[in-house]
Amino acid sequence: MADPTTVPQRIAVVTGASRGIGKAIALRLARPSPNGAGRHVVLVSRTESSLAEVASEITAAGGSASIKAVDVGDSVALATAIDQIAAERGRLDILVNNAGITRDNLVLRMSDAEWDEVIRVNLTSAFVATRASARPMMKNRFGRIVNISSTSGVVGNAGQANYAAAKAGLIGFSKTIARELGSKGVTCNVIAPGFIETDMTANLPGTVREQLTGGLPVKRLGQPGDIAAAVEYVTSDDAGFLTGQTICVDGGMTMA
Ligand code: NAP
Repeated sequence: MADPTTVPQRIAVVTGASRGIGKAIALRLARPSPNGAGRHVVLVSRTESSLAEVASEITAAGGSASIKAVDVGDSVALATAIDQIAAERGRLDILVNNAGITRDNLVLRMSDAEWDEVIRVNLTSAFVATRASARPMMKNRFGRIVNISSTSGVVGNAGQANYAAAKAGLIGFSKTIARELGSKGVTCNVIAPGFIETDMTANLPGTVREQLTGGLPVKRLGQPGDIAAAVEYVTSDDAGFLTGQTICVDGGMTMA
């Protein structure tokens, strides 16, 4: 167990923090802590105005946040942003690679552009941000990296060859990072959400929603807060013995 009296203020970066799951993760990680150390959360996405609103919400609740408007699909801009955050804050402890997109199509109709964009935004960005974060984390012999995958990456999903490949790629990537950085106090895990009610899933027809809900042991769809709660534990000081794991937070959808 971590000793609360010796824990510094952790610096956390959350990508895709302007809405949905990323916003819930940012709000949760920024919650003021009883021991006073807490976390400063840097919110990343492309939309500065939305990030500013989330940052205001965090500050109003007594937390600490700042924003960085970056397209995570731009590797140079993303690496530069991570370097800047580590330099400005003097450390980097937690990285949550959450930003993601879908460009669904059946494989016979899927264009190269649809494939490439999804791989770049969902998978390559996690590699770029992890590579840039590894050095400052290793320096302090503490780091928590979480990659937000999907149950589509675990069991596949028709119409999502690009997305499932990117999300499955995150799982192999995370196990490798866990092996490479474990001895330096840096863990790397995957959270694989099932169906979560956000903008990403807003267009699904009501009948499909009902079918999905009925098939789940918990008989409800997921909320962004369900994912944020899991991320909070995995990124905590107490979770140092948990690494290389994929935790499906999916209402029981994919349990073996
Ligand atoms: P969402 O509501 O569509 O939000 C996506 C977030 O990613 C937004 O903050 C968006 O911000 C950001 N983003 C997208 N492209 C970006 C880019 N190029 N650069 C920087 N930021 C970018 O999606 P969500 O449902 O919260 O999903 C969050 C993560 O969970 C994704 O990785 C998704 O694949 C995964 N997931 C979701 C579900 C689900 O059912 N919702 C299930 C499994 C996995 P801006 O538009 O402001 O840039």
